[in-house]
Amino acid sequence: MIRPIALRNLAATPTRQVAVVIDENLEALETLTPVQGEVTVTHRGDFLEVEGTAQTIVTLQCDRCLRGFNYRLEANFDEIIWLDHEAEIMKGEQEIAIMNLEEHLNADGELDLLDLVYQHLCLEVPMRKLCEADCPGILPVEKKSEKVDDRWSALSKLREDLS
Ligand SMILES: [Zn+2]
Repeated sequence: MIRPIALRNLAATPTRQVAVVIDENLEALETLTPVQGEVTVTHRGDFLEVEGTAQTIVTLQCDRCLRGFNYRLEANFDEIIWLDHEAEIMKGEQEIAIMNLEEHLNADGELDLLDLVYQHLCLEVPMRKLCEADCPGILPVEKKSEKVDDRWSALSKLREDLS
């Protein structure tokens, strides 16, 4: 299990950087294979630089034919997470949240890597889920055991009689 990264501890390391290999089943996301990837987090004082990749296979339901199909989710991300120091939070957290849509974390808090990976994978789920680009939709069930037309059997009988 990958534990959240304590940001104070990361800031105290010589490189201020940590690379984490991920090979996990996420609780929040049902996948056929474990989520695999790698995330590198660098502490830059006022912000975190986070880059990484993650991939897994999920089962989606086709919007047209309603069949389940396997889909490869792949996320490549590179983002900045701003760190709020105690004094700034006092100013009014709500204001910051409304004015700035970018991610913020408490500088004394933790970065939950698995949650971050989960969010990036969710963004990759297609809006329109199709099992194939040209999925024909729900097809009427074909009748396999079609009877031989009676007229044809009558005709072959007639042929036999003539010869
Ligand atoms: Zn389909």
